[in-house]
Amino acid sequence: MTPAFSLCVYCGSRPGADARYAQVAAEVGTWIGRHGGQLVYGGGNNGLMGVLADAALAAGARVVGVIPHSMVVREWAKRDCTELHVVDTMHQRKSMMAERADAFLALPGGIGTFEEFFEVWTWRHIGVHGKPIGLLDTGGYYQSLLAFLRQGVEHGFMNDGQMEMLTVGAEPAPLLQELVEAAGRSPRKMDLSQI
Ligand code: AMP
Repeated sequence: MTPAFSLCVYCGSRPGADARYAQVAAEVGTWIGRHGGQLVYGGGNNGLMGVLADAALAAGARVVGVIPHSMVVREWAKRDCTELHVVDTMHQRKSMMAERADAFLALPGGIGTFEEFFEVWTWRHIGVHGKPIGLLDTGGYYQSLLAFLRQGVEHGFMNDGQMEMLTVGAEPAPLLQELVEAAGRSPRKMDLSQI
């Protein structure tokens, strides 16, 4: 059966210092499964990534993992994904994840999560895609980043339009609902030719 939607989720390959992070990763995975969706993610079994994928599978979601060869051991590639794609490079991983998604969501994470989040955001800014992008601000984890980004607007290096491309929420369910609804109104195609 075709999934109702396909959501690409970026999150930490570590569990983080607060049990709330794993709890929301599980909530996101469960929500995707219960709403007939598909999870696209980095294919690892570590940290929040593993918790997210396990919860999604347990709730009946299709889970598409995309991992580079070089990370199969380091990130404990999740062999029980519905589809596990082992690709050659990080760039192929990120492109495939983005192409398979209707919308993106970043959970708390580290530099890998930040890099992926900023990349899909900048891709949207330059017109590579028009898909919605969410940021789950669990426990205020992203407050200082958001303040810094607003400072970027105040200092004239960014604009409000760029900030408006993001949907930020503190609770998973309403944010997920908003992203899925926005995805239904957004074009699905991507033009990766310019990157
Ligand atoms: P982290 O948030 O650092 O725990 O990493 C989360 C995910 O991002 C992991 O699957 C990493 O493999 C991935 N990652 C790390 N570095 C990069 C990078 N340069 N580009 C894309 N993803 C990355």
